[in-house]
Amino acid sequence: MDVLGLGADPVAGELVCSAKGCRSEARWGLLWNNPRLHTPERRKVWLACDDHREHLEQFLGARSFWKQTVPVTDLDRATDQGPDVPTDQEPGRA
Ligand SMILES: [Zn+2]
Repeated sequence: MDVLGLGADPVAGELVCSAKGCRSEARWGLLWNNPRLHTPERRKVWLACDDHREHLEQFLGARSFWKQTVPVTDLDRATDQGPDVPTDQEPGRA
């Protein structure tokens, strides 16, 4: 399901921050595109916790790759558990 029409790659597995060495639960999805590697519509996704969101945005922004940041709840989830997996069961959701 791509309700927002983001065109972002689905997120597989655990929602863990993409920052190096960080194992925190991701709260944000950073959508980015490297025009040398990806078609313009393509959106790669990095996950970020609250602490690393800004750092990763700056990292991507410095390379002009950053496009958009959205809550992880807005991202497509790639599941291998079959369809109809409830989406209202994220642990730690305050
Ligand atoms: Zn982090």
